Amino acid sequence: MIIRARTVVTMDGAPIENGAVAVSGNQIADVGKFDQIRARNAGEIVDLGEQALLPGFINAHCHLDYTCLRGKIPPQKSFADWIRAINAEKAKFSPNDYIASINDGFAEAKRFGTTTIANLTAFPDLVPKISAPIRTWWFAELIDVRAPERSNEIVDLAIGSLKSAPNWGLAPHALFTASKNLYSHCEEVARREDILLTTHLAESLEEMETFRDASGPLYEFLKSIGRNMSDCGRQTPLELFLGAPGGRALPHWIVSHLNELTESDFDLLERSERRFHVVHSPRSHDYFNHSRFPFEKLRALGFNICLGTDSLASNDSLSLFDEMRAFRRSEPGISPDKILKMVTVNPARALHQENTLGRIRRGFRADLLAVRCNERDTPFEQILEFDGSVDWIMVNGKL
Ligand SMILES: [Zn+2]
Repeated sequence: MIIRARTVVTMDGAPIENGAVAVSGNQIADVGKFDQIRARNAGEIVDLGEQALLPGFINAHCHLDYTCLRGKIPPQKSFADWIRAINAEKAKFSPNDYIASINDGFAEAKRFGTTTIANLTAFPDLVPKISAPIRTWWFAELIDVRAPERSNEIVDLAIGSLKSAPNWGLAPHALFTASKNLYSHCEEVARREDILLTTHLAESLEEMETFRDASGPLYEFLKSIGRNMSDCGRQTPLELFLGAPGGRALPHWIVSHLNELTESDFDLLERSERRFHVVHSPRSHDYFNHSRFPFEKLRALGFNICLGTDSLASNDSLSLFDEMRAFRRSEPGISPDKILKMVTVNPARALHQENTLGRIRRGFRADLLAVRCNERDTPFEQILEFDGSVDWIMVNGKL
């Protein structure tokens, strides 16, 4: 099949005016000017007309479990109160409700042009019952705060459910809900099985107060549920994360948030040679009213920064177009083509798929979307302005 569009945004150099992509099976076979593609390739021609054809979007951090919680939890006075509120809401749903919630989330993400998602699930046992309509990295979200003696068992049980999925990884939830043992067991598995890891780190001021100062509402809450608080009162969350015995297998890690970093944290990042990947969720960040995300500083240190929607418990849609616009409002100096990279090329790298996803390039997977595009502005501007459902999408070579 040959797909022609007014412009093809490959993410490799300048967009191609009057461009086309040849798709064979689930792969991109050729890309270039329409005349050249037609001369070099056989097959049916689909003309998308006045549209921009671009790589499918990659959501680098999401919890589709909580699609059913959209609009249910108003912003709370403290992060600890928010955890109490989401726990109360979560208890109202059955496993079948969660399956419906995840399926609704997939449908919504796809409607907004997402073809790949890094999805954290608190219910790995449900994964075999779900057929994902887009490319999915299933991360089991792991918490052992109420039973740290069971950390290995919790990890191994989750792996048993996840192995049916084509792409999976592990997500120790956060330093305050997952034990040191749970983190290190996940790292052992990652090294052995070459899987990815993700976690929430340095998200809130209360997390900083908990670990650095041994005080604050989150500290009191965790203490009240019986967490061993002996790791609190000395180090920042980042210091604790990076200081794990034996070091961290950093390229395996996709780290969400990093809103709260101290000057000493930045010194530490500057000194450490290896880099993990970072996900920023601008609208969830605004919902919680966190400290400003240190985009420029992290970028200057060479971090690969991606965008994610987080869950609908703290956001109102699974649209990465909305997420890019929210990011642009806080960082108006960043050009639209660089913002587009944060939902294509950058998350492909974070998922270790830089040679298969995130670009329109020969040999890459045929994950594509199209949005209207005319002469009045650059394709990148028009992509960032696009609001609504995507009418044309291809996942793994299928329309
Ligand atoms: Zn999250």
